[in-house]
Amino acid sequence: SVVTRFAPSPTGFLHIGGARTALFSYLYAKRFGGKFLLRIEDTDRERSTQAAVDAIFEGMAWLGLNSDFEEIYQTQRFDRYAAVIQDMLAAGTAYHCYASKEELDQMRAEQQARKEKPRYDGRWRPEPGKVLPEPPAGVKPVVRFRNPQDGEVVLDDLIKGRIVFASEELDDLIIARADGVPTYNFCVVVDDMDMGITHVIRGDDHVNNTPRQIQMIRALGGTPPKYAHVSMILGSDGAKLSKRHGALGVMEYRAMGFMPDAILNYLVRLGWSHGDQELFTREEMIAKFDFDHVSAAPARFDMEKAYWVSHQYLKVTEPAVIAPEFDWHLRRQGVDPANGPALEDVILQQRERCRTLLEMAEKSKFFYAEVGSYNEKDAAKHLSAKAAPVLNALIDGLTGLAHWQPADIHGVVHAVAEKLGLKLGDVAQPIRVAVSGAAVSPPIDQTLFLLGRTATLARLAAAAA
Ligand code: GLU
Repeated sequence: SVVTRFAPSPTGFLHIGGARTALFSYLYAKRFGGKFLLRIEDTDRERSTQAAVDAIFEGMAWLGLNSDFEEIYQTQRFDRYAAVIQDMLAAGTAYHCYASKEELDQMRAEQQARKEKPRYDGRWRPEPGKVLPEPPAGVKPVVRFRNPQDGEVVLDDLIKGRIVFASEELDDLIIARADGVPTYNFCVVVDDMDMGITHVIRGDDHVNNTPRQIQMIRALGGTPPKYAHVSMILGSDGAKLSKRHGALGVMEYRAMGFMPDAILNYLVRLGWSHGDQELFTREEMIAKFDFDHVSAAPARFDMEKAYWVSHQYLKVTEPAVIAPEFDWHLRRQGVDPANGPALEDVILQQRERCRTLLEMAEKSKFFYAEVGSYNEKDAAKHLSAKAAPVLNALIDGLTGLAHWQPADIHGVVHAVAEKLGLKLGDVAQPIRVAVSGAAVSPPIDQTLFLLGRTATLARLAAAAA
């Protein structure tokens, strides 16, 4: 069965490119009823931080991309790596190299002078019949992988197709430094084998690591997994993705008012397609995702498209699913969602006009808190002296209403307009400014219905005074 993993290096927050890679790995595993695992690649102790680990977990949890097992930390596996290195030394698939830095620098300088590609020349590599020098006293050796030099390594990448590497191009890479710390490519190999990974899905900046990893897996008696190298994401102008284009942390998208599944829907379409379908539920993504339709060309990030997807998502999704996130935004804006109408009812009224929950919360705060101050322009236009009779007539009509229902409220607004010889808008706009602080709101009967009679009458009275 399929086992995939997401293996971030905790050097920063979970950014949008990493989230897409994680999503592809997650979807592929779920599609085949397999497992999706998380591995923290924290061997680079200088650049890895606990804050970054926390930020990655926070982002993954918010997106709902949950690991099926407890996450693995590379720094907790040094004993295991050391044991594998001992096995490889014993088996002759790895060897000690005592070459000093100066020696290697000189070797490379000479290679460059001869216009050759710099590569380790195998001076400490054991060969049948070769006599190695005496190890110099007091020098701690590095451990190198004895890379097979014959034939080629064929990578049948699920996205990029076949890539062939000549084995002799791959020199004997260091798998443990002189201080014993194992190196990146080696740890990945041991982890992927131990975790039973069947499909490695990662950024295509790792393509050149892959033939070395395949050789090491073979040397360890394993079967290489399948690989899918995902192309990078570019900015809308074709330049490398930067903050300016939307290369933000996942949690910044939360703050911008996106729902997790809307972000995932947007991300899945960055490079993958299913006919011309744009909108997918999570279940549909799982059912339809495949690598045959992932493009090998870089995808372009398009913030407007992300907003469009967000809006479509808000319009069709069950309000009960949206409500908890809407609650988070309202609290973040300093209002208590308990002080007003049910969130689901407000969502139903607002979602046509709001592309994000940030916007929706801004436009809905008035349901849950007093109107602090009126929008100046709107107040000047709609709450001038001539508004007072309108507001007072409304107060009269609404106070006497038997049922506080949208249709009854609508009736009062109509009656006031008729009685005063005004257009409906000339009655509705002063109400909007009075109850919400500005001249935009859902339909007035719905707005007053949700706000409730007490708050409505108090706010109309305050505006008329
Ligand atoms: N830690 C690597 C990265 O952050 C991922 C390596 C892999 O997936 O094999 O790019």
